[in-house]
Amino acid sequence: MPGCSSHPATSRRPDDANHTIKSLTQCLRGYRAAGLRVGLVPTMGFLHGGHRALINGSVARCDITVASIFVNSTQFGPNEVLDCYPRALEQDHELCRTAGVSLIFVPDASEIYPPGFQTTVEPGPVAEPLCGAERPGHFRGVATVVTKLFNIVQPDLAFFGQKDFKQCAVIRQMVRDLNLPIEIVTVPTVRKPDGLALSSRNSYLSPVDRQRARCLSQGLLAAQAAYGEGERDSERLIAMARAHMSEVDQLQYLQLVDARALEPVPGLVDRPTALCVAAYVGTTRLIDNVLLDIASNSRADLVLAQHRAAS
Ligand code: AMP
Repeated sequence: MPGCSSHPATSRRPDDANHTIKSLTQCLRGYRAAGLRVGLVPTMGFLHGGHRALINGSVARCDITVASIFVNSTQFGPNEVLDCYPRALEQDHELCRTAGVSLIFVPDASEIYPPGFQTTVEPGPVAEPLCGAERPGHFRGVATVVTKLFNIVQPDLAFFGQKDFKQCAVIRQMVRDLNLPIEIVTVPTVRKPDGLALSSRNSYLSPVDRQRARCLSQGLLAAQAAYGEGERDSERLIAMARAHMSEVDQLQYLQLVDARALEPVPGLVDRPTALCVAAYVGTTRLIDNVLLDIASNSRADLVLAQHRAAS
């Protein structure tokens, strides 16, 4: 892996990562001059198989893959503790290396938000449905840091997980609205063999809560299966999913929304939709979703089958 940083190695920060914008852009300038295609995978670290799927997608389509690892303070709400976010830089580094990442970007907070920083990117109404109300300012933080990463890396393609369905919608809208010359690629959700969507936040779950958390994907996948068998009544699909979710401590939302506009779809499901859930299991807030769309269902099933076969 070509590392360009002149920073000293520490146990927390592997020495062949780039910690400054300057060192990263120096590397990228050469690659771009050589006409190489650059892919960006933005992450907050504590990497798992979901992040690996994004990296695999980039490695397959790009000559150079940049993975950023940055726990972005501006997307955390007042009740979310930034310092508690799980971190494992050395393991992250190993995963990046084995997955074929070309450049790792691990900036300090002051590199991204230097003293005097004051300009933000405010998403429009697309940020309001689903978790917008519960997490005020969250998507402003996401849109701002992603814009900054896009400007720093100037990738040809950027990879995001379907697991964060709403985030994908906000970023796609932002790219359209601001004419950002980047192709956004959405990668299907990677799940544990029992269905739980991989997430860095799963590390917060106690063993008992980890078992209870399965009910979210069980509900979603049951509704998806019913949809696959021809059920098209949105209330019945939601009720079917909800029936599995009695074990969660707080169901924040369980909604069937238009896959593009994110508006709730009442009555008949007559277009591609997503069934989205956010819930607290113990003190951990988890999100998940499935697409109800015949074409993408078969793709998601294929990914799940491949993941199961590999694990
Ligand atoms: P995070 O590090 O949680 O901010 O996530 C970084 C990227 O990885 C985002 O685009 C997420 O949507 C994506 N991601 C997280 N979990 C998964 C998963 N289970 N499957 C696919 N992508 C994921």
